[in-house]
Amino acid sequence: MEFAFERAAGVAEALELASAGNSVKYLAGGTNLLDLMWEGVERPERVVDLSRSGCATPAASTTPLPNR
Ligand SMILES: Cc1cc2nc3c(=O)[nH]c(=O)nc-3n(C[C@H](O)[C@H](O)[C@H](O)COP(=O)(O)OP(=O)(O)OC[C@H]3O[C@@H](n4cnc5c(N)ncnc54)[C@H](O)[C@@H]3O)c2cc1C
Repeated sequence: MEFAFERAAGVAEALELASAGNSVKYLAGGTNLLDLMWEGVERPERVVDLSRSGCATPAASTTPLPNR
């Protein structure tokens, strides 16, 4: 599968990159999207990486809470 890969440096750039096409997907951690692309379920023409944009929050940075 071929697709364009772009990395957004901030929220405004992420919005701008995503607005410039129909088949665009944001990439945060990729655990869901990359699997779907690998299986051919998602076929974006462009992928906008949010990892350095401040819009993606890695799961590792969340605070685990005790089970109730
Ligand atoms: C082994 C494994 C176990 C899992 N277990 C669980 C579980 O227990 N519970 C659970 O809920 N999920 C689970 N998941 C699914 C996965 O963890 C979640 O879907 C997670 O939220 C994906 O995060 P990500 O950052 O990798 O997103 P990505 O795969 O990068 O993106 C997921 C989707 O969100 C879109 N997206 C990403 N960022 C934005 C944004 N800022 N704005 C708009 N759209 C955006 C993407 O375009 C894509 O469509 C599991 C996945 C794996 C591989």
